Amino acid sequence: MTTREGTIAQALGFFDNGGFRDRLAALVAVRSTSQDPGHEADVRAYLEDHIRPWIKRMGFTVAVHTNPRPEFGPILTAERIEDPTLPTVLTYGHGDTVRGLEDQWEPGLNPWALTEIDGRWYGRGSADNKGQHVLNLSALEHVLEARGGKLGFNIKLVLETSEERGSTGLREFVAANAEALKADVLIASDGPRVAPGTPTISTGTRGTFHFDLVVDTRPGGVHSGNWGGMTTDPAIVLTHAIAAIADRHGKILVRDWLPRNGMPAEVRAALAGCELQSEASATIDPEWGEPGFTAAEKVYGWTSFIVLSMLSGRPENPVNAVAPNAVAHCQIRYTVDSDATRFESALRAHLDAHGFPEVQIRNAGIRMPASRTSPSDPWVRWAVESMERSLGRSIQVIPNSGGGLPGDVFVDHLHVPLVWIPHSYNGCKQHGPNEHFLIAPAREGMAAFTGLWWDLGEKA
Ligand SMILES: [Zn+2]
Repeated sequence: MTTREGTIAQALGFFDNGGFRDRLAALVAVRSTSQDPGHEADVRAYLEDHIRPWIKRMGFTVAVHTNPRPEFGPILTAERIEDPTLPTVLTYGHGDTVRGLEDQWEPGLNPWALTEIDGRWYGRGSADNKGQHVLNLSALEHVLEARGGKLGFNIKLVLETSEERGSTGLREFVAANAEALKADVLIASDGPRVAPGTPTISTGTRGTFHFDLVVDTRPGGVHSGNWGGMTTDPAIVLTHAIAAIADRHGKILVRDWLPRNGMPAEVRAALAGCELQSEASATIDPEWGEPGFTAAEKVYGWTSFIVLSMLSGRPENPVNAVAPNAVAHCQIRYTVDSDATRFESALRAHLDAHGFPEVQIRNAGIRMPASRTSPSDPWVRWAVESMERSLGRSIQVIPNSGGGLPGDVFVDHLHVPLVWIPHSYNGCKQHGPNEHFLIAPAREGMAAFTGLWWDLGEKA
């Protein structure tokens, strides 16, 4: 008789015997970047030649749709309906990757050839996001086989290929196909765990808001000897304006950007005891950010302000001139507890009140809205219990991840609770050279998802 434990052991056997690694290697070899023109055929091949035949064998009905926005990548949808009265889960992934950056990887590594070194699988898309959705579908395949071709639930899949270009077109597509994509819950994987060894469920994502700060003083540079000291230097004004937005330790001074009623009790409770770790490439600086908060509260429960870039004059070729202008491109990461529609007006009022009427705000707007399902939602509790049973240890629930994912699209148009179960970690270099997937968390992910799919079949 097949059992839950036996099926998890089967799936782990496939993982340990190299079955999963080989499958991932074949998919990493498809150069499906959406950021370098000329790879449209590779992107389509990922969906048509690799994903479609595989999931068709699992009994999915598959369709590949053109993106509602011209020039953006196709979207694959698939469904496997056993009985409309059974629970229906929607899962999601993206088959596109960022550009290869071939010349920047360490010697011996190639973005398009999966390479195993010291418990890591290096390759473009290994973590973001091929490794993650392929893991979940591989687990599904094992449950399907163990149950003799029946899952005991319905499943739908959305696999987009413009995620690395801001998921362009996904919102319109989901809105137009809301009836066909209807589901009870979204269970999907992307992004990092809170720490490599900590199984994590994230119930949303922070949003992103961008704006430029511009000090436009004069039409061209003027002689620094003849004018310097008596005419306004835009770089100095801009840096003072930024200093009025956040203090020397990164505490945000535009208090209207923060969660309206402070950090909600359920967010604080979910994050109690959540430990984050420094990586070789970045440290957690206890003095940085909102005083009195833990690192987890700062990145999962609060607003962050980041200066993405700033420029005045030409740093690569300075001349003896007072620069004509200075510009900074800035970002706010925020949770659903902040009112992003008021970010720009709050900033304008703040700059005026601090004596910076000449600092202009340009191109301000939300790039990706924040989303969150309550960490105490019944689907979240169910997933936590299932994973704890499979992994034999406790699961960290976070109210939203720090980075962005298009969860808001599914919340707005399908009204599904969000259960994100990330398999990667913060140090995976997913948008730079040397992207890799850690093997140990991936193996746990295989066990966790096999258990989840199994339990979902019992839920009805
Ligand atoms: Zn990415």
